[in-house]
Amino acid sequence: MLELESLSVDYGTQRAVQDLSINLTPGQIGCLIGPSGCGKTTVLRAIGGFERPTTGRIRLGGRVVSTPDHIVAPEERRIGMVFQDLALFPHLTVARNIGFGLHRYSRDQRRRRIAGLLELTGLEGMDQAYPHELSGGQQQRVAVARAMAPRPTIMLLDEPFSSLDPELRESLPRELREIFRGDGITVLQVTHDQPEAFAMADEIGVLRAGALEQWDTAYALYHMPQTRFVADFIGEGIMLPGEVIDERHIDTELGHVRTRIPEQCSAGSAVDVLLRPDDIQHDDDSAVKARVVDRTFRGAQFLYTLALDSGRRVLCLAASHHDHPPGEYIGIRPELDHVVVFPGTA
Ligand code: ADP
Ligand code: MG
Repeated sequence: MLELESLSVDYGTQRAVQDLSINLTPGQIGCLIGPSGCGKTTVLRAIGGFERPTTGRIRLGGRVVSTPDHIVAPEERRIGMVFQDLALFPHLTVARNIGFGLHRYSRDQRRRRIAGLLELTGLEGMDQAYPHELSGGQQQRVAVARAMAPRPTIMLLDEPFSSLDPELRESLPRELREIFRGDGITVLQVTHDQPEAFAMADEIGVLRAGALEQWDTAYALYHMPQTRFVADFIGEGIMLPGEVIDERHIDTELGHVRTRIPEQCSAGSAVDVLLRPDDIQHDDDSAVKARVVDRTFRGAQFLYTLALDSGRRVLCLAASHHDHPPGEYIGIRPELDHVVVFPGTA
C-alpha cells in the first residue's frame, strides 16, 4: 500500500531523510519513532507530496507518486492526515466536520458514511455537537473520522497525541487502533513517544538522523535491538561489561551468560551485555546481593536502581510489596538467557 524505496530528502545542503526504505501492506499500522529533529515529519511531508525526494521513490497503492523528477500533487494522492494541531472547524457541527471532504458523494452516501464513522469512533449522538462541547479525546476522534471519511489510501498521523493529557495518551492510541482495524485502513504514524508507538503499531521503525536503524515489532525492538541506539532509545536498561569466553559464553560480574556472541568478537573480546530491568529478578533468598541506590514507585512494581559490588548499576523490576529503602542490600537472581550482546566500545 505504501512503499518507500531508498528515499532521501534534503533541505538545501542538509540531509533530513537518508536512504529510507519501508513497506506497509494493506491494513497495516506502522510507526516511525525517533528523537526530535530525526526527520519524522519530513518523511510524512514527502509521502504527502509536499517535499521532493533527492533520491529514491514513493509508491502509494502501487502507483509511483514521487521521484526526484516527478511529483503527483498532494490533492491527487488520496491521503488522510492528522496532526498534533487538530484544526477542527469550530463553527461546524461534528457531522459537518466529518463530512467536510465528502463533496463528491451524494447526499445519501454522505449521510451513511458519516453515520458509519460516528459509530466506528464511538461518537453516536454527538453529530450535532460543536467541537468546543467535546473533550480532547472526542475532538481527536472527530479529526480522525474527518481524515478517514473520503476513504484515503493511507492515513498519516504526526504526533497526534502530544497535546493531550497523560490519561488520554494511554487510552486514545488503543482506541484509534481499534478504529483503524475496524475500517481496515493502512496507517503510518510518527512519534517520539514509545508507549504511544507500542500501543498503536504492528511494526515500528526507529529513525536516527534521518536513517532507519531497525524496522520490527515492538517486542523485537525491545528484546532484540540490532544497534546500541535502538537498545538505548527503546525501553530501559544498562550495559554490563563482559568478556567473551567461547562461541556461546560471556563472563560478567553477575556470572557466566550463555548467549549469541557478535560475529566480530572472539575469545577474550570485550563486550557489553544489555540488561533490561526484567532480566534481574529480586529474590530475598538469593546469595547474590546488591545495594538499593534509588527506586521509582510504579504502582504494581518498583523499578530499583541497584549497585553491584563493583559499584556498577543495574535495574531491577520487583513487585511493589517488596519495599526496600535506599541503602539496604537485597538479594538478586540474574536471569540472563537470551540477552543481547554488543561489541565493547573500549
Ligand atoms: P522531526 O519531525 O523528527 O522532529 P523534521 O522532519 O521536522 O524532524 O526535521 C528533520 C530535520 O530537517 C531537522 O534538522 C530540521 O531542522 C530540518 N528541517 C525541517 N524542516 C525544514 C525546512 N523547511 N527547511 C530546512 N530545514 C528543515
Ligand atoms: Mg515532527
